[in-house]
Amino acid sequence: MSSGETTVEPTVPAVETTTTGPRPRVRLSEPTSSIPTVAPAAAAAREVETRQVVFHAREVSVNYGEKRALEQVTMDIYRNFATAFIGPSGCGKSTFLRCLNRMNDPIVGFRLGGELTYHGHDLYDQRANRVEVRRRIGMVFQKPNPFPKSIYDNIAWAARNLGMREAMDERVERALRGAALWDEVKDRLKSSAMGLSGGQQQRLCIARAIAIEPDVLLLDEPASALDPIATALIEDLIHELKARYTIVIVTHNMQQAMRVADKTAFFSLDETRIGTLIEYADTDQLFSRPADSRTRDYITGQFG
Ligand code: ADP
Repeated sequence: MSSGETTVEPTVPAVETTTTGPRPRVRLSEPTSSIPTVAPAAAAAREVETRQVVFHAREVSVNYGEKRALEQVTMDIYRNFATAFIGPSGCGKSTFLRCLNRMNDPIVGFRLGGELTYHGHDLYDQRANRVEVRRRIGMVFQKPNPFPKSIYDNIAWAARNLGMREAMDERVERALRGAALWDEVKDRLKSSAMGLSGGQQQRLCIARAIAIEPDVLLLDEPASALDPIATALIEDLIHELKARYTIVIVTHNMQQAMRVADKTAFFSLDETRIGTLIEYADTDQLFSRPADSRTRDYITGQFG
């Protein structure tokens, strides 16, 4: 934590759209385990109207130095949904995803305007604790990036660093089971993670992310480097994971968005080549009855 950061409870009240069901009492200084999880059946039964808002973006714009990468994105991202970001290259999908856990902060010249809250708390408040933000909002990248350590130590590393040292064997097993990898690796936990296949390595990275009990998983094209079988396993996993976590996924692959996402956001470049959110809707609706002609052109392959 930098000297300027404190672990305070932001004063903004939590945003919610529901009048029923448990609301996560999220303080960025509170242990993650205190966030209640929603039973899958109960979560599935909820209609979108009653879903809790996890991220609330209002007119979010991003600059890298002089270059504007994203213009005035307004959207809410809902709890226990998988939300997909699609659109042509360079339209700001990854930029927006990375804004959600302040991953762009180290980039020289990065500036964010507008309002971006997480469970009602201003993510970019200077008092927000960035370590806590990263712990609650995990990320998995396009290219699997296991550490050159054993499978066990890959999973245990972040938990140890965060002082979560008790019952580590159980934590490792739970994370590997949660990422549908346990049966494949349980007899070689002390072997190097570098010996796993690409698909296994990506599930290991997902296990690593969930080992510290996050609230949200951000997935940046998690299957684009994988073969079709490994991709199918990751997609199955996303369906399972969204019962416990809120998932946001960037994908190049429209079929993948249709298979995994409850809601889909289509980004594109405006006439000045700045990334913009064109349409955000239930996935079925976006692909079958797009409201904007630019969405229709993109999903029917007429551009991009
Ligand atoms: P997408 O994920 O849709 O392909 P990106 O978010 O990666 O788009 O990029 C959006 C725009 O921001 C692009 O013009 C890209 O060149 C620019 N950009 C992305 N990352 C950086 C960076 N670190 N520095 C400067 N410009 C960047």
